[in-house]
Amino acid sequence: MIYFDNHATTRVDPRVVEAMLPYFTERYGNSGSTGHPVGEEASTAVEDARRQIAACLGAQPAEIVFTSGATESNNLAIRGVALRRRRRGNHLVSVRTEHDAVLEPLGRLAKREYELTLLNVEPYPSPLAGRLDPQKVAGALRDDTVLVSVMLANNEIGVIQPLAEISAECRRRGVLLHCDATQAVGKIPIDLQQVPIDLLSFSAHKIYGPKGVGVLVVGGGDPKVRLVPQITGGGQQAGRRSGTLNTPGIVGLAKALQLCTDEMPSESKRLTALRNRLWEGLGQRLGQLQLCGPALDALESSGQPLRLPGNLNVSCGDVDGEALVMAMGDLAVSSGATCASTNPGPSHVLLALGMGEDLARSSLRFGLGRFNSQEEVERAIDIVATAVGQMRKLASS
Ligand code: PMP
Repeated sequence: MIYFDNHATTRVDPRVVEAMLPYFTERYGNSGSTGHPVGEEASTAVEDARRQIAACLGAQPAEIVFTSGATESNNLAIRGVALRRRRRGNHLVSVRTEHDAVLEPLGRLAKREYELTLLNVEPYPSPLAGRLDPQKVAGALRDDTVLVSVMLANNEIGVIQPLAEISAECRRRGVLLHCDATQAVGKIPIDLQQVPIDLLSFSAHKIYGPKGVGVLVVGGGDPKVRLVPQITGGGQQAGRRSGTLNTPGIVGLAKALQLCTDEMPSESKRLTALRNRLWEGLGQRLGQLQLCGPALDALESSGQPLRLPGNLNVSCGDVDGEALVMAMGDLAVSSGATCASTNPGPSHVLLALGMGEDLARSSLRFGLGRFNSQEEVERAIDIVATAVGQMRKLASS
């Protein structure tokens, strides 16, 4: 099996498993029970992890709130801020290409007493397709805007949004900024000292860590961000998110993030080369191949790439993506119909780029990761080309 679905989830790195294991067995304490050494040991592990995670992101340890994953982090950020700031205003701003874990909580608020502006992105087939123009954010802000939510990297087309400019605009207008950085953390540099983001969400399972644990970084400086907690109970984590902390998961998340941070320079070069070879090889073998999302070599004005290193999203136009995925037994990829299996139909991200339904329905999303090799890329090119060839033949017979 060739696993090229690393945007959906990643295999846990054996070094992460090794770091976690003692916290299931010998070091099983509750980090809240600090009256005895067993609890104290767990508490120390959690606080060490908090420091390590904060250092990787340019944050403060007290700003790290552990959650069950990015979905919960996004809900806490969006609902927590919207409810807390209700008296200041009820206007929320986000983008059409966000993940459902952002769009759903926003949409539910908009059904009640909030107003939501969803911004459009650069359309297909621009080399900047999927990019949000920061001027659009500037133009949408109003006196009653309480939160802007823009993802850092898109989970389908890998486009990296210009958060530095968006952050500057939000600061200038005194509006809080939330960023779903689930696909970006550990893949591209993030330094909250350089680019202040009031609320930042991510998950361990996208960075070779375990499932079911994530972080919301809640800015504790200027401004100090206040939230209405969404899970209440024992008052853990300064009341921001109650519940016994998942010590093994937290230790694993910290280890996973540290490994990604240490290996990022070489890994992003390696994945960029593999991804480019995949695009080139598929292009040579298949006609009518469209690139979904920004050009592979497009750069921001800062010189940073506009696309995640391991991301490729292509559309053949004439074969159904889901049928294609099923036909390629040995290759795990996603069709453009998003990673949310409960949400069939063409991807809302590709439709937001202005791609027609046929193109959107025939897209394939590749997410290359740490455990993928050049040899697998060559095999995958062959598997895709063979499957598309067979489906085209069937269609024309
Ligand atoms: N945001 C983005 C951009 C994602 O890709 C995902 C995972 N598909 C999520 C949020 C949800 O993360 P989790 O599975 O950890 O809740």
